[in-house]
Amino acid sequence: MKRVKGIPFPTENGRSEIEDLPLPERIVLPLVTPFGEMIPIVSPGDEVQAGQLIAKGANKWDPPLLSSAAGQVSAVKFWPNGTGNEGPALVIESPKQDSPFRREQPSQKDVHEIMRWVQAGDIREVDPSPIPLALRLRKPELVPPAFAPFSPALEKPIHTLVLNGIDRQPGIWLRKAITKNFSSDILETIPLLKDVTGASRVFFAFSKGAEPGEEFLKGLRELGVEPVSCPNVYPIGLNPLLIPFLTGQEIPFNSGGARQFGIVVIDVATALKVHGTAHGEIPSVEVVIQVTAPSAGIDTLVRVRQGTLIEDVLSALSISKKDLAKVLCGGPFLGTALHRFDIPITQEIDSIFLQTEREIIRYADEACVNCGYCVQHCPMKLMPNELSKNCEYGNFNVAEGMDIFSCIECGICAYVCPVNRPMVQLICFGKREIEAARKES
Ligand code: SF4
Ligand code: SF4
Repeated sequence: MKRVKGIPFPTENGRSEIEDLPLPERIVLPLVTPFGEMIPIVSPGDEVQAGQLIAKGANKWDPPLLSSAAGQVSAVKFWPNGTGNEGPALVIESPKQDSPFRREQPSQKDVHEIMRWVQAGDIREVDPSPIPLALRLRKPELVPPAFAPFSPALEKPIHTLVLNGIDRQPGIWLRKAITKNFSSDILETIPLLKDVTGASRVFFAFSKGAEPGEEFLKGLRELGVEPVSCPNVYPIGLNPLLIPFLTGQEIPFNSGGARQFGIVVIDVATALKVHGTAHGEIPSVEVVIQVTAPSAGIDTLVRVRQGTLIEDVLSALSISKKDLAKVLCGGPFLGTALHRFDIPITQEIDSIFLQTEREIIRYADEACVNCGYCVQHCPMKLMPNELSKNCEYGNFNVAEGMDIFSCIECGICAYVCPVNRPMVQLICFGKREIEAARKES
């Protein structure tokens, strides 16, 4: 195991209870996902049921989109989403009370059948991966021939499986709460995950100071899983840091991801969705997120239908929207800052952080004083000062040569900078410009 570069942070252990919020009057399901744009198979006026297939990806290996509520499709229109962009979305009005959402339970002995349901189950992850979960998890002999050409990585045997119980950023304790609340479901899923991946080595990663209960640790050991207490250094919960820490294997950008090296990481929230799918549930219907609104004294975990708008979460929690000026959609370090509240909650969002005008710290754009703190702390061993300067002055080729795409947008450089340089924004801007130029050429 290696030393992790980053910033030390105390473990967060908030209340692990999860509150169910009421069904909103309208849900909005974006048709743009990390795997691309989806094609709707329902039209305005159609009645839909919770769990019904309503849109398909352009590629057959992309997770489909299932309706998260029963109701009537009222429109397919452009709508803002959690990335800060607008894209087509399906709007479903007047959802009806429709739980429980279940389908036939697959045979627990038939791993092919279970994986077919995982594939059909609209499971999307908070941690980005170039390969959809249902393909990434499969050992080569379980990859259907139609999918094999998708990525050469799928032909590589899997030797290591990592269950990630570490939260992605400071201030968030969702994965700790899931581990605590659903420990027996997670233990029950491990044999299936071992079977489907064929991994001979399995780690369970958790934060130091947030040790899971003795029963759970005992259960892990009985299943041959190695529990690993990881240092409280942000961003160790992110795969590019966690994998080298546990296994010594670096995952270079553009290498095809961890799967290329025979390693699969699955976070506990996603493992729980696999467990639900294997037991006849439709887990994509609901999303659990952490809502933090310091001005309202709220820091809590809630379960909502996928597609619930942030403004409906606020009214269900009696948080006044008129006092709020900004939402960090995706958490304090990794979130996208948005100044509107009609954003739908999707499975890619694990937390929202709300700020009033008075809580927003506005920085003057000052010149770099060459202190080197950002270089010292960057977990990806980049030079954030130089990278951001090159992006600011339009020297995108130079930024590309400095490995700009290895930046994981963790925000540490901006956090430690004494003159508050907006390095992450500049680096993100540079990435988008380089990508746009690639598309044009
Ligand atoms: S350059 Fe990227 S990876 Fe490095 S600290 Fe800044 S945001 Fe994080
Ligand atoms: S931390 Fe800020 S001031 Fe210091 S080198 Fe980096 S960009 Fe410059």
